[in-house]
Amino acid sequence: MKNEHITFHRGKVSRNDRFSVLGQKGVAVWMTGLSASGKSTIAVETEKILIGMGKAVYRIDGDNLRHGLNSDLGFSEKDRFENIRRAAEVCALFVDAGLIVLASFISPLASMRSLAREKTGDSFIEVYVKADVETCEKRDPKGLYKKARAGEIPDFTGVTAPYEVPRSPDLVLDTERYSIEECVRILVDKILQFSVLK
Ligand code: ADP
Repeated sequence: MKNEHITFHRGKVSRNDRFSVLGQKGVAVWMTGLSASGKSTIAVETEKILIGMGKAVYRIDGDNLRHGLNSDLGFSEKDRFENIRRAAEVCALFVDAGLIVLASFISPLASMRSLAREKTGDSFIEVYVKADVETCEKRDPKGLYKKARAGEIPDFTGVTAPYEVPRSPDLVLDTERYSIEECVRILVDKILQFSVLK
């Protein structure tokens, strides 16, 4: 609950001042897709390339946040929403600071992605990392689908919990058609276009 005595203390520096210092616009690159669709793999490679180009980038990832800030949350729908709400708040702060934020969150429901977009306003790129359940299940790099099928992981997206395919994402990375390198190149191009300071 917000306390009525709390007010927002404005600074003397605008977000554009911060962007000028960094020579780039902050942007949230919100990557959604099933587990094993390729979100983290693509984010890790994209981060490396952008850092190599001298860009200020930060990567946040669902599993990593669950070790700290979100360690009290599970996978019920309520907890998943809270997970996304906190992640989106963190993302919005980093974007306001001027960073290119690569955020990898399954974010299975359209309403979760809308919530994330709302927090960041117009500096938000929704990226659908596309791979169907069969493909992800074949890849299964962490053995999670196997465990989910065996009933060891409840509420597993794509198996026992829903995934709503994004209707109008800003970018689709079809990981069944394109290699990791191709997906990364497409994403880097999109980010560079968006983050350029005019
Ligand atoms: P997520 O973060 O979405 O759970 P990961 O990145 O952890 O997914 O796992 C994706 C797996 O799929 C990795 O083992 C990766 O090597 C493999 N893979 C195969 N083709 C692609 C592709 N085109 N893009 C991304 N990952 C791919």
